[in-house]
Amino acid sequence: MEKNNACSGCRACEAICPKECIKINVLGRKEFTKIIKKKECTNCHLCEWVCPHTAHIDLKEPLKGFNAYALKSSVIRRSSSGGIASSMYEYCMENSITGIGVLFDGNFNLNYTAIKNERQMRKAAGSKYVYSDMSGIHSLVANELCNGKKVLFIGLPCHVTGLLNYCKLKNIDTENLITVDLVCHGVVMPIYFTEHLCRVVGLRMNTNFEGNILFRAKSNPYGLTVTNKSTVIYDKSRYKDEYMKLYLAGMYAKSCCQCKFAQQNRIGDITIKDCNTPWDKRKDNSVANQSSVLINSLKGMELWDCLREGKIKTEEYWVKDIINEDERLQFPSPTLNKYDWFGKIEKYFGHSMAVSILCYLSSIGQNRRKTKRR
Ligand SMILES: Cc1cc2nc3c(=O)[nH]c(=O)nc-3n(C[C@H](O)[C@H](O)[C@H](O)COP(=O)(O)OP(=O)(O)OC[C@H]3O[C@@H](n4cnc5c(N)ncnc54)[C@H](O)[C@@H]3O)c2cc1C
Ligand code: SF4
Ligand code: SF4
Ligand code: SF4
Repeated sequence: MEKNNACSGCRACEAICPKECIKINVLGRKEFTKIIKKKECTNCHLCEWVCPHTAHIDLKEPLKGFNAYALKSSVIRRSSSGGIASSMYEYCMENSITGIGVLFDGNFNLNYTAIKNERQMRKAAGSKYVYSDMSGIHSLVANELCNGKKVLFIGLPCHVTGLLNYCKLKNIDTENLITVDLVCHGVVMPIYFTEHLCRVVGLRMNTNFEGNILFRAKSNPYGLTVTNKSTVIYDKSRYKDEYMKLYLAGMYAKSCCQCKFAQQNRIGDITIKDCNTPWDKRKDNSVANQSSVLINSLKGMELWDCLREGKIKTEEYWVKDIINEDERLQFPSPTLNKYDWFGKIEKYFGHSMAVSILCYLSSIGQNRRKTKRR
């Protein structure tokens, strides 16, 4: 077993290994681990060259910046910020482009999937502050491209990078692949989320749950809301829900605390993030929710121009202001690095106590950082 603090579980190595001798363990409490069957490995190094954290990568300098939002209010209502990702899926469905986004399965796992219909598009909307699984996506995208189809992939920056590296090493022409990266401050190891849902919603793993899990419900932003057949079965704010407390305290996987994508140059053709500028300072104050968007390539600009014809309203905004407004476009999230300690407190005093102490320590750290900046 190879312990790799910089593994974010993107599964690109698993997908490329010609001997199929890699397994990524995503069930750990501190980090993702890469398990190699050494006897079968031929030392071809493909798994290192594909890895977003060890391969050389070419990031792009943003060409233009915008603040934007979807023209359809129904799209904005279910989206996290301006509904730009959802508008892109809508455009894909209208133009026979394979759009890839994330959906929860019946066991609370969040998987990348081809978005084929309105129902899936509605479920993909909204930021889900959990690990997303790329299983099967590298080969799906490769097949679509080889069959002459256009593909739009929206995902976390390390996942976009693993996908692009995979295509490059497989000699797949990526002219028809458009990538969109989401500015990302990190993910908590998935085991904490599944255990939390089992605890609070009372559902056991493998129950084929068919509801919806929202992290940015308009009535409960950054809290956790779970619905089942349109009935709200769990709804707690960011101050009360123990998973969101853990997330917002910064208990991220080790890889996220040294993320090389938390910077101004970007991997995707387009970058989307929440708009941090108060909306009432903008010229158009008709909606509160907006996204900030960086256009990083001519391919990205082409798609952007198509969306501007009827799907979204945009306003050009300085690239340097978008970067200055978000620390995750400058440096990675600070590490809490309390994994061993957290496990011990959890064992002796219970999960709730461990979360409370962690939040307390995180708030001390945040106050120190604020004081330093002043
Ligand atoms: C884990 C995470 C951390 C983020 N951190 C920041 C941040 O620090 N600063 C910031 O400005 N913005 C951050 N964002 C991005 C932001 O919250 C919005 O997702 C983005 O602005 C898109 O909004 P939208 O309204 O256009 O998308 P919507 O129309 O709401 O669609 C959501 C899109 O996000 C994708 N998505 C949701 N959850 C995940 C996930 N876990 N993995 C992969 N794809 C996912 C969906 O497939 C869909 O494409 C983060 C997003 C995620 C998922
Ligand atoms: S070096 Fe090659 S064969 Fe060995 S695990 Fe990596 S990709 Fe597989
Ligand atoms: S980050 Fe991705 S490519 Fe790198 S070791 Fe982890 S799963 Fe493999
Ligand atoms: S913070 Fe970086 S390493 Fe972690 S999930 Fe986001 S892009 Fe990947």
